Amino acid sequence: MNDALSIAQDLLRCPSVTPADAGALGVLERLLGDAGFDVHRITFSEEGTSDIDNLYARIGTEAPHISFAGHTDVVPPGDEAAWSHGAFSGDVKGGLLYGRGAVDMKGGIACAVAATLDYLAANGGKPKGSISFLITGDEEGIAVNGTVKLLQWAAARGETFDHCIVGEPSNVEEMGDTIKIGRRGSQSGTLIVDGVQGHVAYPHRASNPVPDIAALIVALSGDPLDAGNAQFQPSNLEFTSVDVGNTATNVIPAQAGAKFNIRFNDHHTQESLRDLIDKRLVAATGNRIRAHIVWEPCNADSFVTRPGAFTDLVVSAIEEVTGRKPDLNTGGGTSDARFITRYCPVIEFGLVGQTMHQIDERTPVSDLEKLTKIYRGVLERYFG
Ligand SMILES: [Zn+2]
Repeated sequence: MNDALSIAQDLLRCPSVTPADAGALGVLERLLGDAGFDVHRITFSEEGTSDIDNLYARIGTEAPHISFAGHTDVVPPGDEAAWSHGAFSGDVKGGLLYGRGAVDMKGGIACAVAATLDYLAANGGKPKGSISFLITGDEEGIAVNGTVKLLQWAAARGETFDHCIVGEPSNVEEMGDTIKIGRRGSQSGTLIVDGVQGHVAYPHRASNPVPDIAALIVALSGDPLDAGNAQFQPSNLEFTSVDVGNTATNVIPAQAGAKFNIRFNDHHTQESLRDLIDKRLVAATGNRIRAHIVWEPCNADSFVTRPGAFTDLVVSAIEEVTGRKPDLNTGGGTSDARFITRYCPVIEFGLVGQTMHQIDERTPVSDLEKLTKIYRGVLERYFG
């Protein structure tokens, strides 16, 4: 039986801690191949990193084309002795499926495969369009041999995508409470203030950067960066450490630094955001304080899939199964959806994320059944 539970158990029993595959993609290759998918296994390499296996499988040649995306790699189990059931056992106890990746995100992939196989079986083995799976083994690691290259590879073959669902655990408390429709961007930097070193007893011969950096931190933290909008909360600049590194009590230090991170919405690009902060810094230093910002490289711009026909269709499938109207949310950290958004509208909807990356990662088996029904309902509506 190719139900979501048995597929999830087969996946969980492969200890695919990044960068290992340990047979996980083979499980999907067999199931999708048997169902008539055109299956490709692609290995990507880059100097200084481990080779990573990826999988692309498609059935149908026509539009519309919906893709399920995800990753079969998992984070390490931590102290395996601390697990109530083996981290790679796929055991079910008390209606709960245990294992590293149960919710993040082998469980979600299993539901998408089960829903697709069921849909195909009910429709003469062919969708009225195309269904594909974009699955990487490099999401939890440095993610250089994963989704970015897989999408480039697919584009070079002439593949085009109309919509994509990433099966990351988007729900916060209960199945159906949250769809992620975007993410904020992330930009880090260090504020540096240069003073003049000197003896504390002769401050007129020195220039102390410590009170100056304190004033600049207050100035840069004070004014909001924007007011947010319907899809996003306001952008936020947060200082995370202040560093002077001075071990002497009788020396005014020459320099002070302070690290910060900005989570930003779609009112800004990386460039406009850096410009805005640099301008505010110039205004705050007022010609007297010598300060500048060293910006970190940033590969996480914000993105959003605006609510519309596609999100309505997913919401309706969720409501039918759970009776809940999901929140369309852009909170939380980053995922591979930030790369997929360059190719087609993408949303994230999967299991409940509460135990992800924890000891005893687990999901109720009933949630697997619900998610399979929801994905099935999405396919029905999408091609209906
Ligand atoms: Zn994940």
